[in-house]
Amino acid sequence: MTMGGAAAEPTPRDTPAASADARPAMPRQFTPTEPSAASATASAAESARLAELHSLGILDTPSEPGFDDLVTLAAQVTGCPIALVSLIDEHRQWFKARVGVDLCETGRDVAFCDFVVRGRTELEVGDLRRDPRFADNPFVTGPPHAVFYAGYPIGTPGGAVLGTICVIDLVERNLTLTQREQMRALARQVSSQLELRRLTVEQAREIERRTAAQRRLARSRSEYRLLTENSGDVIARFALDGRITYISPSAASVLGAGTALEAGVNLLARVHPDDRPHLREAAEGVREGESTTCTVRVLAGDENWRWLECALAPLYDPDRGELEIHCAARDVTERVDAAGRIARSEERLRSIFQGSPMGITLTDTDGRIISANPAMCRLLGVPQEELIGRLRSEFVHPADAALHPGAMRELMERPGESMEVLVRYQRYDGVLAWASAWLSWIHDGDPEPHLMAHVFDVTDRRRAETALADSEANLAAINVVTRRILSGEDARGAIVTALVDIAGANLASLLERGPGADTVITGSSDPRLVGTSFHPDAVPATAAVWREEEALFIERAEEHPLINQDLVRAMGVKSILYQPVKSGDEMIALLLVSWDQVLTDLTDRRLAAVALLADEAAFALEHDALLRRYEDLAGTDQLTGLPNRRSWDERLSVLIAAARRRGEPFVVALADVDRFKNYNDAHGHLEGDVLLREVAQAAKAELRVVDVVARWGGEEFAIALPNCRDADARQVLERVRQAMPRGQSISIGYCEWDPARSTPSATDLMNRADAALYEAKRTGRDRVVSAG
Ligand code: GH3
Ligand code: MG
Ligand code: MG
Repeated sequence: MTMGGAAAEPTPRDTPAASADARPAMPRQFTPTEPSAASATASAAESARLAELHSLGILDTPSEPGFDDLVTLAAQVTGCPIALVSLIDEHRQWFKARVGVDLCETGRDVAFCDFVVRGRTELEVGDLRRDPRFADNPFVTGPPHAVFYAGYPIGTPGGAVLGTICVIDLVERNLTLTQREQMRALARQVSSQLELRRLTVEQAREIERRTAAQRRLARSRSEYRLLTENSGDVIARFALDGRITYISPSAASVLGAGTALEAGVNLLARVHPDDRPHLREAAEGVREGESTTCTVRVLAGDENWRWLECALAPLYDPDRGELEIHCAARDVTERVDAAGRIARSEERLRSIFQGSPMGITLTDTDGRIISANPAMCRLLGVPQEELIGRLRSEFVHPADAALHPGAMRELMERPGESMEVLVRYQRYDGVLAWASAWLSWIHDGDPEPHLMAHVFDVTDRRRAETALADSEANLAAINVVTRRILSGEDARGAIVTALVDIAGANLASLLERGPGADTVITGSSDPRLVGTSFHPDAVPATAAVWREEEALFIERAEEHPLINQDLVRAMGVKSILYQPVKSGDEMIALLLVSWDQVLTDLTDRRLAAVALLADEAAFALEHDALLRRYEDLAGTDQLTGLPNRRSWDERLSVLIAAARRRGEPFVVALADVDRFKNYNDAHGHLEGDVLLREVAQAAKAELRVVDVVARWGGEEFAIALPNCRDADARQVLERVRQAMPRGQSISIGYCEWDPARSTPSATDLMNRADAALYEAKRTGRDRVVSAG
């Protein structure tokens, strides 16, 4: 059988072969070399057709009676010797059923049927030999020498043409209309057979798929059961409304016997009310196809809440046709409790850290601050954000080496130990304050340990301690001064010495008013200055303090207008304090204290010490003045104002010593008012006193400045006449006798002493004078008698 030739426009149905013969060659529609949208569409259709053909799995299958019967029938109704069911694949036509030929297949290029497939319509050629499409076909030119061909397309429900049912005759002829109708019916039969086959194949494949799926399901179910029943976790499934559809036996062991978690129970009812929203939210995620997790409390068999960490996933239940939620839950109560305990303890620590009145810092090994609590920020006066990352040393006084990294590293080598240090630290506002810091290294899980410092401000305590120590030191120093003054030492010397000691001064001086308006240095730690006097106007600062009567502190004496700069240079003075010394409201002296360093702190205890000593100086000066007055009073007779007997004794010794030194003669006399008792009796004791005063004045008036008259006692007077001989003495003493007031008489005895001849004592002289006085009385009174 030969068929084929070049592709051409198929002959329309029912067109007689003769007319086809006469037709010229038609334009080629299916040339694959012509790239066009139409050809692309055609090749896509061809691919689909081939896929449909292959999906039937019919090619190269054994003959089947159903198809064989149809070709037999075709041969019979058309009277053709050859009838075929031909299926066209990529490169060949394969005969599913055939009558009259032995061939099973031919190349597609020589297949008459390919014209039907490509043209998708029936083709009847009366004489193949005269048709240019087929004239050269080997089945025309060679055996079986085909002459007549009629092919009817085998279509699919999708409209594809898979092949033909065709008849071939070896003589020129045409089919009758009836034969054509019969052929069409047979073509439909073939199509039905193929469709049936397609359905059968699909069904077989579906059955195969189902069987495989069922096997997989069975296996996965058994695996699931194995997993759920042997898992330590609780495996459950619940419907979207929360109703439990399955729960693994492990529920009883995890949640305890008697747990009400069982199929049919609503899971939400067993979840802690606070946790239900979490579960609902997680279930909502599952409904949208996600896998979610949540941790909720579930009521256990012992009526306690247990924490379950649940992993939820969507699960389609094919039996019920519903989406369920698969839940694998693990008891994490221990972990949650532990986490809770840790969180609570961390919270407690955090609140201690935050709320502690004590400053707490953590610094790294480089001394950099990594954490600081609010108290620390308050202590330093630095906002927290500015504190973190700064070096600890930025805040500590450079002189306080206790906190230096080296010292801290030493502490690190003694694990578990803590150390207290007292340091000065610099507040942000520049104020220097004192802090006590407890330091210890802590290992808090980081690779490097951290230095924890508990810091509290001890500035006030330290100030109080210092003030106490200062005031104790001041009091002790003042006690020393007072004792020295009371013991009769030079008060001024004691004061300036104490000033240098307590005030740590280089120079301390006491200035008092001297003769005229001058200021005299009456005491100084530099003895060379004592006795120096100057006019206050020469030193402006001194003048100002005398005028204002207020203390004057000059922090920097250099270039100060009130200070004599020559003095500053000569003495290296830096700070000076002028402190008035006041007795009551009166300024009686001035303390001048100077330092060779600048005293910047006005609250310096040294300044306070000077003020205290100024009070003491006032007392000392008053005491000194009083002492002198007492000394005068002790040597003076109150009634007459003459030296008293004690003073007389002292002066007599001094005068005798001087006379002896000089080799000058010396006279001592004793005078006794005559019958004074009678005067007292006559005029009264007070009048007697008056007379005694007048006697004293009268005697003094008759004597020289160098002479001494003293009240010896009662109505007796002693007289010393230095550098005086007997004759001269008589004259002087006679004048005294005659000078007595109110007609009163007096008796005088005297003795002369010549140092060239003897060395008598004062007592001897007094005794000799007394003897002469006795003689005067005895011989009638009112006379002057020499001891002879
Ligand atoms: P004669 O001439 O012998 O010294 O007689 P006289 O009275 O002065 O001597 P006598 O020693 O007997 O008396 C001294 C008197 O001096 C006794 C005493 O009352 C009186 N007298 C002593 N001191 C004071 C005094 O301070 N004031 C007064 N008013 N009388 C004094
Ligand atoms: Mg007498
Ligand atoms: Mg007398």
